[in-house]
Amino acid sequence: MAIVTSDHDSVRAGKLSTLSWQKALKEAIRDPVELCRTLQLPAKFEIGAEQAAAEFPVFAPKDFVAKMEVGNPSDPLLRQVLPVDEELLLAPGYVSDPVGDLAAQKTPGLIQKYHGRALAITTGRCAVHCRYCFRREYPYAEGPRSHREFAPLLQTIAADSTIEEILLSGGDPLTVVDEGLSDLIQQLENIEHLRRLRIHTRLPIVIPQRVTDALLESLQRTQLVSLVVVHANHPAEIDCHVAAALQRIVEAGIPVLNQSVLLRGVNDCAKTLIKLSEKLINCRVMPYYLNQLDRVNGAAHFEVKVDVGKAIIAEMRTRLPGYAVPRYVQEHAGDQHKRPLA
Ligand SMILES: *Cc1c(COP(=O)(O)O)cnc(C)c1O
Ligand code: SF4
Repeated sequence: MAIVTSDHDSVRAGKLSTLSWQKALKEAIRDPVELCRTLQLPAKFEIGAEQAAAEFPVFAPKDFVAKMEVGNPSDPLLRQVLPVDEELLLAPGYVSDPVGDLAAQKTPGLIQKYHGRALAITTGRCAVHCRYCFRREYPYAEGPRSHREFAPLLQTIAADSTIEEILLSGGDPLTVVDEGLSDLIQQLENIEHLRRLRIHTRLPIVIPQRVTDALLESLQRTQLVSLVVVHANHPAEIDCHVAAALQRIVEAGIPVLNQSVLLRGVNDCAKTLIKLSEKLINCRVMPYYLNQLDRVNGAAHFEVKVDVGKAIIAEMRTRLPGYAVPRYVQEHAGDQHKRPLA
């Protein structure tokens, strides 16, 4: 198996803990002060981190944290998970549900905005809390609490024969154990008009141990066409362990796509995004979307101007194969598809 490595990786990769993915979830850092101290940040960061974490808690698996540079508050991976006081500033135009998820709910936990595909909030749980997440204020508690409460959602899908594709999202659907997922997939399979199953997940990036044999088997066994969409924003997220996990999915015959969010101080430069695309295609993962930031409360400091995004895409086109340039898109509530920006 070809594993992508580079000098940069060998510095950052370190050793992957041999924890099971569930143990890695359990042992993830949830205390903002612990996160600051692990990375030896100046003490002034601890106050802001504690205040902002009261709004949206910290969650960062230790193997993800191990890829960050100690002593560097601007580390691009750290910026994605460290609560900072800028989150507490009110920013005009920033709201609780920027993409109109709630208005598009067909039943609690089932969102449909586009023709032929519907999105299930499989769980509220994630393997990492991304500070810019557009669902950071989503009322997960009002939907199904677990896959066992999925009956109304399944009935809604079954009642609409135009739905051919179901997206499992959340939260992160791969925080559900393999038995639960396989159970859910079987129930979806029973819906005759459903053809495709798409899993949107960050688990293979932040806890690559999650790509278990049982998971791959259930994705292969189903008669539904399965696809996996991962979410990586910066090349340093893809060390050799992550690359190997991604390749295992591809080798199981399941297409893997990546989406990123354009984030200030994380990946708002062409060089970084070119490197990310190169790493992705070298493990046979196709760059899919580069999302313009959704204006959710607390995320204003991550916004990059659309003109800057367009210039980055233009430069990527001069350096990469056409298939390695992601589609730069923005979501607008009420649209019938994501809106292309470049
Ligand atoms: C983004 C999104 C999709 C997927 O859109 P694609 O363009 O097919 O990737 C589907 N449903 C909802 C509600 C979405 O937000
Ligand atoms: S993993 Fe996805 S759903 Fe979870 S916090 Fe990050 S962006 Fe949001």
